[in-house]
Amino acid sequence: SIVFLNDGFMPIEEAKISPLDRGFLFGDGIYEVIPTYNGKAVGLEPHMQRMFDGLAAIGIKSTKTLAEWRELIEQLLEANEGDYLGVYLQVSRGADVKRYHAYPENVEPTIFAMTTAIKPAIAADASAAKGFSVSTTEDMRWKRCQIKSTALLGNVMHFQQGYENGSDEILLYNENNFLTEASSSNAFIVKDGVVITPIADNQILPGITRKLILDILEKDGSIPVEVRNVSMEEVFNADEVWVTSSSKEIAPVTSIDGKVVGDGKVGQVWEAAFKLYTAHKYEY
Ligand code: PLP
Repeated sequence: SIVFLNDGFMPIEEAKISPLDRGFLFGDGIYEVIPTYNGKAVGLEPHMQRMFDGLAAIGIKSTKTLAEWRELIEQLLEANEGDYLGVYLQVSRGADVKRYHAYPENVEPTIFAMTTAIKPAIAADASAAKGFSVSTTEDMRWKRCQIKSTALLGNVMHFQQGYENGSDEILLYNENNFLTEASSSNAFIVKDGVVITPIADNQILPGITRKLILDILEKDGSIPVEVRNVSMEEVFNADEVWVTSSSKEIAPVTSIDGKVVGDGKVGQVWEAAFKLYTAHKYEY
C-alpha cells in the first residue's frame, strides 16, 4: 500500500522513522481513523476537529491546515485500492536528539497516514445482522480518555482480555459502576424505546460515530435520546445495547458476559437507528 510520511507518498516498505521518535518511545502522539466508502468520507470535519483538539491538548503545533489534510486524504485514497478504507492519520511529537520527558523545542512532528481495510456496512436488517458478544471489566485506563492518544496500551490490554474470552468487545465501567465506553468503541443502551449513552467527559473518547448518531436521531425526532450516566445495572437490564465506532458503525450487542441482551435478538431500535445513520452519515 501507499502511505504518507512527513512530506511525501511512498510504498509502506519504504516508510522509515527514527527509533528516537516520541511516538515510539512514549506513545506521544495523536491519531484519527476516518471511514470512507467508495471514496466518500464520513465525518471528515468533526474527525479533523477532534485531531486538532487533541494536538492542542498535548501542545503539538498543527503542522497542516484542514485544507491540506483534506488534500492529503484525497491523494492517499487515489493511491490505494479498495472500496471501504479507513484513513489512519497520526501526528507524533517527533524525534528528539535524546530521550527526555519534557516536550522538546524545535522538533518537527512526524506525520504519518495510511489506509486500512474496513468492513462494508453490516446488514441493515435486524434479522440478518450479526450480534456482538461482549464481556465487561472495570475501566483501568487513565483519566484523559477524551484525548485520542496513540498510547493505547490500556485499551489494548482491555481488548485483549475480552478477545481471550472470545468476546468481540469489552464494556468498561468506572469505580462507581457506571458505564464508560468499550475498549475501542462508544456504548449505547436502549430501554423502553429510549436511546441512552454516557456523557462525553474525560472518561470516554468523544466518538464521531456517537456524535453523528446523536445528531441524526435528534434531527429525525422519532427516537428519543438521553445523554446521561448509565449504571451497569441498566446495561444488564437494557432492551438493546450497541457499540459504535468508525470501523464498526453501529454494532448491536446480543450477549454480555454470557447473558442475553433483551430477547437475545438484534433489536428494532437498532434497525431504525442504523437505517437513519446509513441515510444521513455522508452529510457530515
Ligand atoms: N472509544 C474508543 C476508546 C475508541 O478507540 C474509539 C475509536 O476507535 C471510539 C470510542 C469510537 O470513536 P469513533 O466513532 O470516532 O471511531
